Amino acid sequence: MNWNHMKQMKIKLGIVLSMLLFASQIQASPADTVVIIAGKLIDVKNATILSNHAILIVGEYINKIGPKDVILSQINENSKIINLESATVLPGLIDCHVHLGITYGNNYFRDLVTKTSIDNAIEATVNARKTLEAGFTSVRDLGTSKDFIDIGLRNAINSGIIPGPRIQSAGIYIGSTGGHADMIGISPYIIFDQFSGVADGNDEIRKMIRFNVKNGADLIKIMLDGTIVESEPVSDKSQYSQEEINVCAEEAKRWGKKVSAHVHGAGIIKKAINAGIYSIEHASYMDDECIRLAKQKGTFIIPTPYWIKYTIDQMIQRGAPTSIIEKYQSLFKLQESNFKKIVQSGVKIVYGTDATIFPHGWNAKQFPLMVEWGMNPMKALQSATIDASELLGWSDKVGVLESGYYADIIAVEENPVDNIGALEQVDFIMKGGRIVKNNFDQIPTVK
Ligand SMILES: [Zn+2]
Repeated sequence: MNWNHMKQMKIKLGIVLSMLLFASQIQASPADTVVIIAGKLIDVKNATILSNHAILIVGEYINKIGPKDVILSQINENSKIINLESATVLPGLIDCHVHLGITYGNNYFRDLVTKTSIDNAIEATVNARKTLEAGFTSVRDLGTSKDFIDIGLRNAINSGIIPGPRIQSAGIYIGSTGGHADMIGISPYIIFDQFSGVADGNDEIRKMIRFNVKNGADLIKIMLDGTIVESEPVSDKSQYSQEEINVCAEEAKRWGKKVSAHVHGAGIIKKAINAGIYSIEHASYMDDECIRLAKQKGTFIIPTPYWIKYTIDQMIQRGAPTSIIEKYQSLFKLQESNFKKIVQSGVKIVYGTDATIFPHGWNAKQFPLMVEWGMNPMKALQSATIDASELLGWSDKVGVLESGYYADIIAVEENPVDNIGALEQVDFIMKGGRIVKNNFDQIPTVK
């Protein structure tokens, strides 16, 4: 074993130890039988709202849902009853684009030389808890540039060591030299002793996919172009050739993994869809031809509109030059009109935010924007529940409230179909039958 291997082993061991040390909140084992009485219950599958229903939960799973009186007549005196009669109950939310291993507000260049992956991993445990406490009981984590933090995080959450959402992890995201996954703006003489997802040519892309799969990735994330500003105008500034994108999709498929691609430009979106990429992230310059192709191939689109709104607000607050603000504002306008077209086309839109560009735990702030841009509130809810679970391949596990599904349940005071902004304050959260948060007054129920 050489020095580099030893150092890498030390880093990995350090990450595991820090996660264990940080396990401040070991969850209690769930009560055997729990009943939630729901004033209103959103059935996202049928797009309807049920009144005076109750959910019977046994262990981690939903056992039965039915009229309140029927469910209450079937339980014994040991059952725990949670009264949410004044609330609207719905499935736990799902954000299909987060990076829990990257913390909001960090300084990229300073952190490169002052922080290790151990620091990032500890911060990730906090990000995971904030996300869960915002009502997001499942996420798809699209990875980091240098380490398997999302995979360690997923494993620690699955083992019950730390609180957090269910996670599908992408591991280390892949990109070309000089592309969106590479370290830009650093002297080439500074060598960092860390993993990297930079891969050029068919063989390196294949190797990077295999390396991620070997280390526990659930899916593959690839960067196909730069930032939204770099991608302007709608020309083809692809950081990979069509052949390389095809190889990525083909290699991932052989290992049973789906590929998510970061793409803004229309020409590259077409390349990605044609290659069989499963989900397109951002899709800012999506044109009519892209929409037609996505519909034909059943490609999922994750438009992530909130982060650019947040960025513009921040730039205004910090007094950024007007020319830059105006540039972002015109891109935002374009996103709005493209989003409207995608909504009207019936292409599959899934909820994903890119939380990390704005604070983790603010994931629900995107809902009002999507509704403002023409998505009806029930459809917006579906994008973060039943449609998101389809993207994850978890249609039989999460995303709806039905018998046999995980008891991932949230409740809000106001009906989000009437006021979608209500989702920004989730007052009750249950994940897998365990209560994460309950701000509702407990009214004792006498049987
Ligand atoms: Zn991202």
